[in-house]
Amino acid sequence: MPETIFSRIVRKEIPAKIVYEDDVSMAFHDLNAQAPVHVLVIPKRQIDSLEHATEEDANLLGHLQIVAQKVARLLNIHETGYRVVMNCGRDGGQSVGHIHYHVLGGRPLAWPPG
Ligand code: AMP
Repeated sequence: MPETIFSRIVRKEIPAKIVYEDDVSMAFHDLNAQAPVHVLVIPKRQIDSLEHATEEDANLLGHLQIVAQKVARLLNIHETGYRVVMNCGRDGGQSVGHIHYHVLGGRPLAWPPG
């Protein structure tokens, strides 16, 4: 599995605007924000895609969702609402091969997505 830029962010080799970090996860602002709040929540351990996650990853994936909730509270979008989304594969629009949830908010978000 080729390493991505996210592993370099985890090791703090390249800068990111980190909003939350713990032993197993990290959350940082997306470089190309699609909403007033757009944060990525990633596991520190690389899993390249949801398609390759296993039952052993279930606790970690659940943890990332709780981190997404923490991020929403930290950035004060928890009352107005937000979207937590993970893109998977080509048609899902995934461009970085290190699993991540997008946390988007700060404006009304259209549905269905494009
Ligand atoms: P996806 O297309 O779902 O794989 O999402 C990847 C996201 O990573 C995109 O929204 C990019 O803007 C974002 N991104 C890529 N490189 C960086 C970086 N160095 N720091 C922050 N966000 C990044």
